[in-house]
Amino acid sequence: MNTRGAFARAISSMADDTSLYAREVLAINLAGVKCKLHFVNPYHTSTKHANCGGKIKRTSENYDIAPCILCSKMVNTHLNAAINLASSTIRSQT
Ligand SMILES: [Zn+2]
Repeated sequence: MNTRGAFARAISSMADDTSLYAREVLAINLAGVKCKLHFVNPYHTSTKHANCGGKIKRTSENYDIAPCILCSKMVNTHLNAAINLASSTIRSQT
């Protein structure tokens, strides 16, 4: 989003009541689009490099693009967090 912390704030402001999301998924499925609700692990998604598992050194100066300490690649921290969230499915609800 290029707005520091906007993604994290958006997630933290989401309702804790997962039944709301389950109802949204049901409505989407009733509209003919196949959709599942997945619970994900929200921890360390911004600091763990999805490619190598190394730690991303994120500071206020390199908040959006930061280096991985293990592989030295420059990582888009927002895309990396999205990849970690997508791959950290805890369980799914149909
Ligand atoms: Zn890495």
